[in-house]
Amino acid sequence: MKRRDFLATATTIAGATLLGGCNDSNRVAIDYSKHPEKKDSKYNSVNVNHNKKVKLKLATSWPAHFPIMGVGVERFVERVKVVSGGSLDIKLYPKNTLIPALAVFDACSSGEIDAFHSGPYYWKGKNSAFSLFSGIPFGFTAEEINSWMLYGGGMDLWRELYAKYNLYPMLGGNTNIQMGGWFRKPINTLADMQGLKMRIPGLGGEVFSKMGVNPILLPAGEIYTSLERGVIDATEWVGPALDLKMGFYKVAPYYYSGWHEPGSVLELTFNKNFFSKLSNEHQQILEVCASEMNANMMYEFHAQNILALQKLDSLGVKLSKFPTEVIGAGKKALVEVLAEQSEKNSDFKRVALAIDKRLKLSKDWDEVSLKYFLNVRS
Ligand code: CA
Repeated sequence: MKRRDFLATATTIAGATLLGGCNDSNRVAIDYSKHPEKKDSKYNSVNVNHNKKVKLKLATSWPAHFPIMGVGVERFVERVKVVSGGSLDIKLYPKNTLIPALAVFDACSSGEIDAFHSGPYYWKGKNSAFSLFSGIPFGFTAEEINSWMLYGGGMDLWRELYAKYNLYPMLGGNTNIQMGGWFRKPINTLADMQGLKMRIPGLGGEVFSKMGVNPILLPAGEIYTSLERGVIDATEWVGPALDLKMGFYKVAPYYYSGWHEPGSVLELTFNKNFFSKLSNEHQQILEVCASEMNANMMYEFHAQNILALQKLDSLGVKLSKFPTEVIGAGKKALVEVLAEQSEKNSDFKRVALAIDKRLKLSKDWDEVSLKYFLNVRS
């Protein structure tokens, strides 16, 4: 048989098989009376809750239709509805429509809402250890923190500490590696960082503070104007895709590669009492759809960032890297911040030690695998 003939035949067979598989008349309903063991199995719960409608209130820290994060949660809500046959009905409340952006943790803890989508480092005022579940400067990449959470004990620690607030967290996305931020003037030496006013939250802000920067927290809507007027000298945000939409490049064109948020975790967190009372089927639908959102959001950040990067040049953005002495000062500052926080809070110490142990193992593997590969590929 000639190759072309073979391909034609193979295509026909595959096509026939596929069509046959899609034909509803080929499907045979399972008669459980003939298979009592199947009726009793854990698989018999599909759609048993179809007529048991459950309504949930989910508030987020993002505006409605916010790219990637907000849109990702909207897809999750729709997915849950379809997969549950309409029996899980989530009412979505974007930032400030029901609960202020940074009040969702308390609102969910008290049961005012059933779930929220946000980022764990916003709750460091409740327990400084919570910021560690977002990741640390010079720490895990997105892949590594997912690995630690799911197969290295991270999720158990997170759920144990959130349980004290009647909360049950799930992974709800990851920003992937973030950029180091937008600066009005170039950073050529560590001295250029001294006294700079920069919008930067979380552990990254504490590290920058030790390096001489004055970290400032601002609502998202005020960052651009503050930068334009010189009220602040620099800001970090996320990565090219989201940063370009904020327009920072127009007033602060020096854009630095980053190390302060190498893979920040986003969370989908439930009121623990509420979640524990759901049926097993509904719990699993939420877990599976959250898992999909976690992966997809991370990939969408990557997909949009690689396209947005191509636009920087034509917009006059000056892509830069921090000088070696700044990186060295950042690493030294991180050690000090982790030691100080560990001294103050035993939960922080426990989580930080777990991360440190895991990171050492991960670095050994990266050295012989990913780091090698990225170097030879370049
Ligand atoms: Ca950020």
